[in-house]
Amino acid sequence: MMAITLNAAELLNQVLRSIDESGWSALIRDAHKPFRLRVYRGDEHGFDVCIYIWNCSHGGGSARSSDEYRVQVTSVVPASVHGETTLLLGWHPGYGVFVGFDITKHEGQSSQSPSIQVKEEALIGAHSHAFAIHYRHNGEIAVAFRPEFLVDYALNAVSLHSTGKVAEDLSLLNHLDTLTDSQIVTVEDRDRRVVLSQMARKYRATDFSRRVLGAYSHRCAACGIQLELIDAAHIIPVAASTSTDETKNGVAFCKLHHAAFDRNLISFDVQYKIEISETEVSRLASANLAGGLDVFKKHLRTAIILPNDRRDYPPPQYIEEARKVRNWA
Ligand SMILES: [Zn+2]
Repeated sequence: MMAITLNAAELLNQVLRSIDESGWSALIRDAHKPFRLRVYRGDEHGFDVCIYIWNCSHGGGSARSSDEYRVQVTSVVPASVHGETTLLLGWHPGYGVFVGFDITKHEGQSSQSPSIQVKEEALIGAHSHAFAIHYRHNGEIAVAFRPEFLVDYALNAVSLHSTGKVAEDLSLLNHLDTLTDSQIVTVEDRDRRVVLSQMARKYRATDFSRRVLGAYSHRCAACGIQLELIDAAHIIPVAASTSTDETKNGVAFCKLHHAAFDRNLISFDVQYKIEISETEVSRLASANLAGGLDVFKKHLRTAIILPNDRRDYPPPQYIEEARKVRNWA
């Protein structure tokens, strides 16, 4: 694997993009290392984060085992900032995952540029199923995770790096891809059950979205734009008992067309032809809210752009069912 290293600005970009993929937003308080950000969602006030981050690379020197990766802690001495969530992270571009270390174990580490190791299996685990909790020989727990879990990691960093019973319970996160609700209810501690079910729900949602966006080449099925402004929408809505997370129950829409679809302004029929609701249009017109309708119509394709693979095409019975539960006239 080629060694790619990011400079500080690129690492900051990676962090910001990951926060966005986590479904949160960030304000920059300090763009110099360590990065200091305010992480927030919608109108919430949010919380402050201080991030120490380095590239995670294959260790040099022949004495090092080949399955070991390391983060070289250079130029600063990590220290927790009071009132802020302080993270100590490595980023591995090849696997596209972060690895988080326990800040309390490395605070004030003053020896000349110490390095922290992590086994490759942790990076592989996170790459393939989002989370990998890894015991290091010194008793520290390292946590590798995918970018879209960065904020979840930050919110739960203390528990995630705890040992003993907490670690035993949270080790279920190593199997997020198969984690079921019946496994989660066996965990006695209520807070940890909440963390586990939030993560499991997030895994399912991001897994769905990853598959659907891939199937549609990250392109809006209604207008064709990409620009990373694309959502994966459920055709039969999640709230319906008949809904599934199969790729074929998904369609990729840009933010505008996703909202238009959810609000019943547009739909598509079993022949994949896009329709605009006449009922909705006349309601909007009479309320003096139909401005831009011409432009809106002009950007709509005649029929939705279909996935490359036929198996991902929305099945007619799903479309029928969706139109029924969405009260599409
Ligand atoms: Zn669109």
